[in-house]
Amino acid sequence: MSTTPRTAIVTGAARGIGAATARRLAADGHAVGVLDLDEAACADTVAAITGAGGRAIAVGVDVSKADQVAAAVQRVADELGAPTILVNNAGITRDNLIFRMTEEDWDAVINVHLRGSFLMTRAVQTHMTAEKFGRIVNLSSTSAQGNRGQVNYSAAKAGLQGFTKTLAIELGQFGVTANAIAPGFIQSEMTRATAERLGVSFDDFIAHSAKEIPVQRVGQPDDIAAMVSFLTSDEAGFVSGQVIYVAGGPQD
Ligand code: NAD
Repeated sequence: MSTTPRTAIVTGAARGIGAATARRLAADGHAVGVLDLDEAACADTVAAITGAGGRAIAVGVDVSKADQVAAAVQRVADELGAPTILVNNAGITRDNLIFRMTEEDWDAVINVHLRGSFLMTRAVQTHMTAEKFGRIVNLSSTSAQGNRGQVNYSAAKAGLQGFTKTLAIELGQFGVTANAIAPGFIQSEMTRATAERLGVSFDDFIAHSAKEIPVQRVGQPDDIAAMVSFLTSDEAGFVSGQVIYVAGGPQD
């Protein structure tokens, strides 16, 4: 697969899907801004990239804070060059049934996923439109179609699908594509926390979930990173406004 070396930003890249994506984009030849809440927590991801001969910097940012987002994007532009690849991956869960869900749980999830993706994209698209090239990938979820205990998260992940389609319409004329990846079960700290909430061991949770998935396994962060790699490549320029389910089977 051919791609031109560029500057990429991956949010929530200290661990999990974001870390795997940052490593993959670096392996594809891109310089990577590794963004997460705590700059020090990004050290392992940056070390893995630089250890393999790539370029990366760690940047601490809360994606839901406009001033921090502006400063983080400026730092990446100054140190690595104008960012033209953006992966909005940072995310949290605050699961509860609706009758127990607090306003804080609702706001926290909506703010990180939706407001965070909006602020990051607004800041980065300036560079993309100037360069007449851009690749935006937003992390949605199969939960967008509804998932017990996740009214906040499923609303945010469904919202990201509409956000993605509108970005594709508005920014296409500038050489910018926008797509969403909707993963199913991916083995990460997020799904480990879900197992804890449900009171089952992570191993049992994985084994049980794998039986329900057509390919008979749960996903790994690298499964998502591989799709990000394709969607951010030069040759994916005619794929835009899509929601791609990466879930080991079809979605309804
Ligand atoms: P994870 O919890 O392992 O990693 C999420 C990262 O985001 C963490 O490093 C965290 O510090 C960071 N983060 C949280 N809030 C932030 C903020 N305000 N600003 C900056 N960084 C912040 O989760 P993961 O499983 O790797 O999930 C990554 C993305 O994929 C999320 O958007 C998640 O909703 C989505 N997703 C995950 C799964 C799954 O099964 N794991 C399925 C579908 C979608």
